[in-house]
Amino acid sequence: KCHNELVRLKGNIRVFCRVRPVCRGEHDSAENMVSFDPDDDALLYLSNKGKLMTFELDKVFHPQATQEGVFQEVQSLVTSCIDGFNVCIFAYGQTGSGKTYTMEGVAKDPGINQRALRLLFSEVTEKAPDWDFKITVSMVEIYNETLRNLLGDNQGEKLDIKMNPDGSGQLYVPGLTEFTVQSPEDINRVFELGHMNRATACTNLNEHSSRSHALLIITVAGVNFSTGHRTQGKLNLVDLAGSERIAKSGAEGSRLREAQCINKSLSALGDVINALRSRHSHVPFRNSRLTYLLSDSLSGDSKTLMMVQVSPLVCNMSESVCSLKFAQRVR
Ligand code: ADP
Ligand code: MG
Repeated sequence: KCHNELVRLKGNIRVFCRVRPVCRGEHDSAENMVSFDPDDDALLYLSNKGKLMTFELDKVFHPQATQEGVFQEVQSLVTSCIDGFNVCIFAYGQTGSGKTYTMEGVAKDPGINQRALRLLFSEVTEKAPDWDFKITVSMVEIYNETLRNLLGDNQGEKLDIKMNPDGSGQLYVPGLTEFTVQSPEDINRVFELGHMNRATACTNLNEHSSRSHALLIITVAGVNFSTGHRTQGKLNLVDLAGSERIAKSGAEGSRLREAQCINKSLSALGDVINALRSRHSHVPFRNSRLTYLLSDSLSGDSKTLMMVQVSPLVCNMSESVCSLKFAQRVR
C-alpha cells in the first residue's frame, strides 16, 4: 500500500540517465566534461562550451554501473506487469551512446531485455499454484514508419496497426508473431531468431539499427483457477533509433527520409509523454506508428521509464545536451 502511494506521488513517468564509459580505442580529452554529484544520484553536470549545466533526473547511472545494477533499479517496474500493469521502457540517445548495450546487452553480459524475460518467466513459474500464466513475446522493428515482424517468416510484409472492432479500444497487429515462452530454452531461441531476422534483411546491421526502433513486447496473462480472476500486463522494451540531428545539407533522398521519420517519431514520443504527464485531455498518439502502437501501454495507469543514454566524449557533448533536454521535457 505504501509502495503504491509512492508511485502515485511520483507520477507514472520516470527518467533515468546512463552515462557510458569511454571505450577502448576511443581517444578523448583528459578533461571531465561529465561529472556526478557525490551526494545526490539524481544530478548530472555537463560542461559544454565553457558552460556548466546541471540536469536533474530521477536517477543517474555512472559509467561504472553494471548491467546487473541497472536491472536492479528497473526490476520492480518489470514485474509489475504480472500484476496487470502496462509498462514501457525506452532507451533514448544518439547513436553510440549505449542504447543497445542497455537493452540488448552483449553475449556475456545481457541487458534489460533478456534479464526481464528471464525474471518474468521464473516469477510466474514460482507464483502461487492456483495461478496459471502465459507469457508471449513479439519483436517488431519500425523503420520509416513501417512495421516489420522479427519473429516470423513474413518479414517482407509491412504490418498494419488495427483497432479491435469490438469497441474495447484495443489495438492489434495482424500478422505479428506471438511466440509463447514455455521454457528457458525458448527464451534463447526467441532472441536468436529476432537477432538473425533483423540482421538478414540489411547489409549493415549497425547502421540499420541506428535508424530504426526495435521493440520487444512481452505479454503476461494470468488466470486464477480458483477465483476465475484474470490479469493481463504488457512490458514494452524499446531500443529507439538514434536521436542525433542529421545536418539538413548532408542528407538527401533515402537518408533524408529516414531522418525525417526518426525525427517525427521521437518528437511524437516526447509530445505524448509530455501530454500524459501534464494530464492534457488530448494525447497525440496518432502522430507516429511508435506512439500509436504503444498507446495502450502509455495511457491510463501505465508506467513509463525513459533511459536517456549519454556518451562521455567531448565530441558528443552537444548531442548529450540535446538528449538531456529531451529528458527534462518529459520529466
Ligand atoms: P547505441 O545502441 O546507442 O548506438 P551501443 O549500445 O551500440 O550504442 O554502444 C556503443 C558502444 O559502446 C558499443 O561498443 C558498446 O558495447 C559500448 N558500450 C555502451 N555502453 C557501455 C557500457 N555501459 N559499458 C561498456 N561498454 C558500453
Ligand atoms: Mg544501437
